[in-house]
Amino acid sequence: MKAGFIGLGNMGSAIALHLIKAGHQVSVWNRSPGKDDALLAAGATRAASPADAAEADVVLSMLADDAAVQAVVFGEHGTLSSSAKAVHVSLSTISIELADHLAETHRQAGRDYVSAPVFGRPAAAQAAKLFIAAAGKPAALSLCAPLFDAISQRVFTIGETPSMANVVKLSGNFMIMAAVEAMAEAMALCEKSGVEKSTLFEVLTNTLFNAPVYKTYGEILVQERYRPAGFAAPLGLKDMTLVGSAAQRVGVPMPVLGVVRDHLIETIACEGPDIDWSGVGLTVSKHAGLK
Ligand code: NAP
Repeated sequence: MKAGFIGLGNMGSAIALHLIKAGHQVSVWNRSPGKDDALLAAGATRAASPADAAEADVVLSMLADDAAVQAVVFGEHGTLSSSAKAVHVSLSTISIELADHLAETHRQAGRDYVSAPVFGRPAAAQAAKLFIAAAGKPAALSLCAPLFDAISQRVFTIGETPSMANVVKLSGNFMIMAAVEAMAEAMALCEKSGVEKSTLFEVLTNTLFNAPVYKTYGEILVQERYRPAGFAAPLGLKDMTLVGSAAQRVGVPMPVLGVVRDHLIETIACEGPDIDWSGVGLTVSKHAGLK
C-alpha cells in the first residue's frame, strides 16, 4: 500500500521502519531535517511536505501534540491540501476536541479520519509490539488493518467516532502515571524503613502486580533510569493536562490527577525537560528526604 508517514521522533521513526519492512511504499516527512536517513536507506522516499506525504492511500502521523498535528494538517502544504484523498491516521496522543475537529474537517473534505493512539514505549515500537486503540469508520479501519498489523501486537476497535479512541488513550496514560506515583511512594516507604526497593519490586511484580505497567516502570524506578527519556516529562504533562480537560468537559472529578500533574510540573522545573515522565519517582524520593 502507498503510505505517507509524518513525524519521525522517538516513536514515529521506529513505526515507519516497520511499515517499510512489511513491504509498503512509504514516503516520510519530518519538520526538522536529518531524521530520515535510516528510513531512506531502508527504502522510504522523502516527501517534500506533509501534503506530498499525503499523496497516498493512507497518511499516518505521529506528532508531539495538538499544535503539531494542526500545523501538519491545516498549515501551508498541510495534508488536507493534497489532491489524493488519503485516510488520515493520527497515532499521536491528542485532545478530544482536536480529534472531533479532525473528524469533521476530513468529513467536509470528503476524506476519512481515524484516531489510532498507541500504548507502548519506543522499545515496543521498535519491536512492533504496540497496542493500538483505533476508532473510525469501519471501511477506513479495514483499509488500515495491514498497516496496523505491521506495527502492533493487537488492535482494539473502540468505535466509529474517532475521539473515543483518544478517551481510552488518555485514560490509560492517567492510569500509568497513577501507578508510577503509587509505586514511587511505596518504594520510598520501603527504602526509609530499611527494605530495598528492588525487594518490593520483586515481591509485587511476581504476585499481585504482575502486569506490564508495574514491570516496565517498576524497573525504571528501581534503577533510577530516567535519562535518556523514552517518553519525555513535558509530553507526559501535556497528556495529564488533556486528561484534565476531558474530565472537566464531562464533569468527572479526578483528584489523583492533580497529584501526578503537580509532580510532573515539579519534576520538569527541578530536573529539566529532558527527563522521562517516570522521573516523578525522583521528586517523590526527594519529598521523602531520600535525595
Ligand atoms: P518526540 O520524540 O518528541 O517526537 C515528536 C515529533 O513531533 C517529532 O517528529 C517533531 O518534529 C514533531 N513535531 C513537534 N512539533 C511539531 C510541529 N509544530 N510541527 C511539525 N512537527 C512537529 O515524541 P514521541 O515520543 O515520538 O511521541 C509522539 C507522540 O506519541 C506524542 O503524542 C506522545 O504523547 C505519543 N506517545 C509517546 C510514547 C512514548 O513512550 N514516547 C508512547 C505512546 C504515545 P521535530 O523532529 O522537528 O522536532
